[in-house]
Amino acid sequence: MFDLIIRGDRVVTPHGIGEWDIAVKGEKIAALAAPGAFGDDAAARVINAKGKIVMPGGIDPHVHCAWHIPALEEGGEPSYSAPPSQVSRAALYGGTTTIIDFAASEKGDTVPQMIERRDKDWVDQCYCDYAYHIMLRGAVPPSVVEELGEAVQDGYPTVKVFTTDITPSRKGRMVHFGDIWEILKVLAREGGLGVIHSEDNDIVMHMYEKLFREGRAGFENMAEVHNALSEDISFRRIIRLAENIEGAALYMMHVSAASGVSAIAQSRAKGFPIYGETLHQYMLYTSDDYRKPNGQMYHTYPSLKSQADQDGLWEGTLNGAINAVATDEVCCTLSVKVQGNQIDDTTGGNSGVEPRLAVMFTEMVEKRGYTIEKFVDLTSSNAARIMGLYPRKGALAAGSDADITILDPNEKRTVRKEDLHETDYSPWEGREVAAWPTVTVLRGKVMVENGAFHGDEKDGQYLKRYISDDIRGGPML
Ligand SMILES: [Zn+2]
Repeated sequence: MFDLIIRGDRVVTPHGIGEWDIAVKGEKIAALAAPGAFGDDAAARVINAKGKIVMPGGIDPHVHCAWHIPALEEGGEPSYSAPPSQVSRAALYGGTTTIIDFAASEKGDTVPQMIERRDKDWVDQCYCDYAYHIMLRGAVPPSVVEELGEAVQDGYPTVKVFTTDITPSRKGRMVHFGDIWEILKVLAREGGLGVIHSEDNDIVMHMYEKLFREGRAGFENMAEVHNALSEDISFRRIIRLAENIEGAALYMMHVSAASGVSAIAQSRAKGFPIYGETLHQYMLYTSDDYRKPNGQMYHTYPSLKSQADQDGLWEGTLNGAINAVATDEVCCTLSVKVQGNQIDDTTGGNSGVEPRLAVMFTEMVEKRGYTIEKFVDLTSSNAARIMGLYPRKGALAAGSDADITILDPNEKRTVRKEDLHETDYSPWEGREVAAWPTVTVLRGKVMVENGAFHGDEKDGQYLKRYISDDIRGGPML
């Protein structure tokens, strides 16, 4: 006897799309069976998903919940992005069942302390499954570098570093190159993965000074500061470093420029295990959109770039350099999002975890003719593979977690912030989408069904992760 059977005629499996019945027992997929192999009396509940798309739950490998947003005035009260409860609920409404956030270093603490501190924001406060990347900031003591080995072994295998302070006011975020070298050596030895925010700090800081000097500090000039040349130089520098460390592997976060795509593609061509993530706003907006009313809505760091850069990102999804589409979710109110309007104080991150699957399905499958499998790889399966969650997550297969999203192509709609569960604005406002997720199942539990939410804040589980040898052995995917 099963708990749930979902009958679909377009079920996205690791072996292609087909007509399958998915039988769920407890939290796991028990079997994928030929249509009708199990009768209606074989399960407590049967969902008919014929005419719809049945896919593994979406995975967003880059979000920031309960995240410090600096105040505009020096000494003013900082804001915080929406907590895991709010973001995970919106994620499930949008068909995403796993989100990966960050456990960041603060001065003097150990890696276990970083994780413990972050657990206070998350444990029993998240509706969907979740994990953290460890985020190291500023000077990294040798003792912390060594602790990373144990963290990797304990299921925390991804370590984020910044190669820039991002803005002049955030000094102390950048990790020095020598420290990055040591960090990557430990990750290489222990089976981890470096996840990188890569920009050339000299160029970025030079451009801040130059634009202030020239009286052109409005945020609409952001792409001149966080520019494509900076991405080119910094990507090549860190890739060169990692290529010289036996066993190292990289995941480049929020690739925003064609130059970044090229750098990744060239390294992959040499056989180095490197993967690229871009963001849905980089794929669909350019720096021209900064000039729209409340144009900060479209911004996240590094920056929106040119049409040619955007074309390069799309090309990257086809040539293997771009493997995952994330949100860089920093869910906040419109007033916080647009509080700054200069190059050095514009709020980063974005909201969009809820419409991500619908928007990407529309843009990839409907508009650009991508296969449904390719869309699923870019929004779910590849993130699972790279981040050490596959095939537990990102796969509709026997033995996998029963994280299942039903995407309904009859549910064409216009994105309206009022219909979402994120915040009081959406960068996707007014966008027509060709499908919408109507059912989301997390580990066998129907969390969302036709607009009704059935989740509990204690439903989300922390996911320990182990990066596969395949992913670390060469450029897969
Ligand atoms: Zn981020």
